Amino acid sequence: MSAAAEGMPPAAGPEAVGEMVREATAWCALHGLVVGDRADPRSGTVPGVGLVHAPFSLLPTHLPVSCWRQACELAPIFNELVDRVSLDGDFLQDSLSKTKQVDDFTSRLLDIHRKMMEINKEENIRLGLHRSDYMLDSETDSLLQIELNTISASFPGLGSLVSELHRSLIDRYGNLFCLDSKKVPENAASCRFAKALARAWDEFNVDSAVVMMIVQPEERNMYDQYWLAKHLKESHGITTIRKTLSEVEAEGHVLPDGTLVVDGRTVSVVYFRAGYTPNDYPSEAEWTARLLMEQSSAVKCPSISYHLVGTKKIQQELAKPNVLERFLENKEEIAKIRKCFAGLWSLDDEEIVKSAIQKPELFVLKPQREGGGNNIYGLDVRETLARLQKEGGDALAAYILMQRIFPKASLANLVRGGVCHEALAISELGIYGAYLRNKGKVVMNEQSGYLMRTKVSSSDEGGVAAGFAVLDSLYLT
Ligand code: ADP
Ligand code: MG
Ligand code: MG
Repeated sequence: MSAAAEGMPPAAGPEAVGEMVREATAWCALHGLVVGDRADPRSGTVPGVGLVHAPFSLLPTHLPVSCWRQACELAPIFNELVDRVSLDGDFLQDSLSKTKQVDDFTSRLLDIHRKMMEINKEENIRLGLHRSDYMLDSETDSLLQIELNTISASFPGLGSLVSELHRSLIDRYGNLFCLDSKKVPENAASCRFAKALARAWDEFNVDSAVVMMIVQPEERNMYDQYWLAKHLKESHGITTIRKTLSEVEAEGHVLPDGTLVVDGRTVSVVYFRAGYTPNDYPSEAEWTARLLMEQSSAVKCPSISYHLVGTKKIQQELAKPNVLERFLENKEEIAKIRKCFAGLWSLDDEEIVKSAIQKPELFVLKPQREGGGNNIYGLDVRETLARLQKEGGDALAAYILMQRIFPKASLANLVRGGVCHEALAISELGIYGAYLRNKGKVVMNEQSGYLMRTKVSSSDEGGVAAGFAVLDSLYLT
């Protein structure tokens, strides 16, 4: 994403870099910039056991101010768009109808959504905690959206800390690199997300209620989540409970007035940090829990509708001509959103499938999945498309095709497990957005901080948790 290869200047010899890495990793331990260590089998279940510093980039990645402003400006527009689209149940059902035939997971989500439509379920208080991800395309120099996450957008907690780490390293060593810590923008993602959860709790207006975080039974990224719980308690006096979907099934029920009670406690806000992948639903119990929560009057972050709006299929549908116009009135806002859309195609389009088979390196083939590691690149695109075509039927409808974006690579120092590697790397900018609405009143609609992720340029995928990327922040140029 940077304008020029950065790397370490000659002034920073190997000893200086080594010292900086040790300072940085110690800083991580002291400030809670940590994740569970794969090497320790208990690290995903027992807090405080088997910690390791989160993988990070030693210095922030350069980003032109204009791109930064553009991405920030988009956040409230995307927030509003998600809300508008979520209200059009038929649009969601119709757009996903073919996907439903071939993708069991999406089909189960749509079943819950359909049930809510049938009972005319209204969500008066609607909370969205999103992250819109972008890459800077080197060919056109334009900021293009990778995807919009409406469920379980991760790293608001750790991302804020990386910006702090970078500022502190620049304050200490910046003269080596001629860097100024003021050019790392402030990143209050964890406080902002906690504030949004707290405002939703306020709107729900039951003093004894808790926020319930839905978590995976094993979660090495738990400290990112604990940061939100900490801010909720310390800044807003609100208690967070952590439950897995199967615990909700065992311990939860809905009272006749719609109140969700879990483990004897009234839940005002359900915040999902699990439930976005089929792996989170190993049995019917987890689906029962998801339905139970949806039926309740608790604020769901996200509701089933918000969740569906974040699917890759809906992203592709919104990119079709004249679709944004159905949901937004303001022409300038529509133009701003459209400008960041990359090429997106449904596989109904025979011409595009043909092009992708001919030039697979220019496309990414995406199934309806979240969490990294699911997309198909390069020659596999050709192979998969040819196979799916042969199979015939609707098999192709499980995927969308996207224009492959090529960000400019630059040298970066990636630190993982205390070891620093210099490598050519590319970056993905995520902008958090928080949206809260109670009936006609928009309580909150804001850009809520950012996340930069950097990965070696030879790697196709980008997830930090999935082991492809490191956490990063940005340096405005
Ligand atoms: P997920 O929901 O699993 O995170 P993404 O659409 O974000 O799915 O894709 C995962 C990763 O794949 C991204 O973080 C990015 O590194 C890479 N990627 C996705 N789409 C593109 C694209 N169009 N061009 C280049 N890389 C992409
Ligand atoms: Mg995603
Ligand atoms: Mg992603």
